[in-house]
Amino acid sequence: MPKNEGFACTQCGACCRRIAKIAELARFDDGSGICKYLDKTSNTCTIYANRPEICRIDMMFERHFAENYSKEQFYALNARACNALQEILGISKRFRVGVYEI
Ligand code: SF4
Repeated sequence: MPKNEGFACTQCGACCRRIAKIAELARFDDGSGICKYLDKTSNTCTIYANRPEICRIDMMFERHFAENYSKEQFYALNARACNALQEILGISKRFRVGVYEI
């Protein structure tokens, strides 16, 4: 999983393993809700340089959320989502994303 520019992504791979309900990623689903471009051994994206917009936190912020949130607020919301998803998937606490001040 990518570092996602300025966001403190811990490369847990959780977001790549829960794409079943994301319309923009329908063609990436391997059939089990996991992105077919996730290298499950290394937890890295095999199409990182060419990954879609929805997988790019900073691009999503600039194009869709900058009018409503500060970058810090957007990162904080993403961090909460990452950590909640990690909890659901039983991912080790060492991958938790640090809290952003908002
Ligand atoms: S769930 Fe969050 S911390 Fe984990 S890989 Fe995705 S963006 Fe990074």
